[in-house]
Amino acid sequence: MAELHKFLFEGLPVRGMLVRLTDAWQTVLARRAQNPQTGAYPPELVSTLGEMAAAAVLFQSNIKFDGALVLQLQGDGPLKLAVVEVQPDLQFRATAKVIGSVEGLTGLSALANPGGTGRCAITLDPARRLPGQQPYQGMVPLHGDRGEPIDRVQDVLAHYMLQSEQLDTTLVLAANSEVAAGLLIQRLPMQGEVNLAGRQLVVDEDQIGRNEDYNRIALLAASLKTEELLTLQADDILHRLFWEEPVLRFEPLMGDEGPRFACRCSRERVSSMLRSLGPEESQAALAERGKVEVGCDFCGQQYRFDAVDVAQLFAQGNGQIQSSPDAWQ
Ligand SMILES: [Zn+2]
Repeated sequence: MAELHKFLFEGLPVRGMLVRLTDAWQTVLARRAQNPQTGAYPPELVSTLGEMAAAAVLFQSNIKFDGALVLQLQGDGPLKLAVVEVQPDLQFRATAKVIGSVEGLTGLSALANPGGTGRCAITLDPARRLPGQQPYQGMVPLHGDRGEPIDRVQDVLAHYMLQSEQLDTTLVLAANSEVAAGLLIQRLPMQGEVNLAGRQLVVDEDQIGRNEDYNRIALLAASLKTEELLTLQADDILHRLFWEEPVLRFEPLMGDEGPRFACRCSRERVSSMLRSLGPEESQAALAERGKVEVGCDFCGQQYRFDAVDVAQLFAQGNGQIQSSPDAWQ
């Protein structure tokens, strides 16, 4: 069962979280494999997308944002786009778009950044947006400040956290076709320090990288091996890493309260997307195939509209355009 464990180090300005996505992650992969339009993810992509899923769940529960947290990679290699969206209740969905072959390619540089223009973005989209309010977005390139290649999702995100959030963060991520798991260790922000939503920007920069307690715990966390993160249970991982530290654990979140797969697509959303494209698109599809078919990239659900459905779509709306906030849906 997918589970999320939160803990802090008593008396020290450090907290942590450990996530293991098992059945929920397998569901994401199985749905993709069953989608006749895409087929299964190539193995080269499974670890990248799984690590992103684990990280996005960690980030969402770390900041407790009232809205969707969207972690995105935009690549200029065969991996064009990878997206994970996590809701405040930890429901998540994920998808990726690959064009061409990724066979034998490992590492983010080869998959998504051969041209040097790949990007990683985190978007916070408030559940209740005020008029005119834009989602908050932070972005980093898929290479270091001096252009050096970054090949792991965890290193891109550590770079992001340091640059955009100015918080010491250690991330260890790993994923295969069974498990997507992650460990996050973070120095607790001082009063008035920056947070992910960009409020209150008084930063004690001197503190970055210089807190001894954080540095010691971060080193322990970084010693966690991929194989251990993939195979050990949460209790074993935390004991193995931090048995000498004053770890205070909270009740784990699992089942209905834990991270789980859920897609937010619906016939209504697809309808409003088709309306926003205008009647010509749908008429063209009808003329060509006798129906309009739209598949959800996240869950594989197919939505079909015949000639009568299409006529209703454009009659009901009276030409009114409703744009969906989800550009990819
Ligand atoms: Zn869906």
